[in-house]
Amino acid sequence: MEQKKEKKHVCSICGKPSEATICHACEEKIRGEALEKKKEMEKAGRTDTGRR
Ligand SMILES: [Zn+2]
Repeated sequence: MEQKKEKKHVCSICGKPSEATICHACEEKIRGEALEKKKEMEKAGRTDTGRR
């Protein structure tokens, strides 16, 4: 774990300079993947939860 407080901020995904831990491009990518996974999970594991 690197917890050095330096001015240099880079995306922890692509390593490109970014203000945030994860740059926008990667953030959106991750978000999209997460959404897809969620969809898959909902499709695959139809649980009773969510329905009342
Ligand atoms: Zn990135």
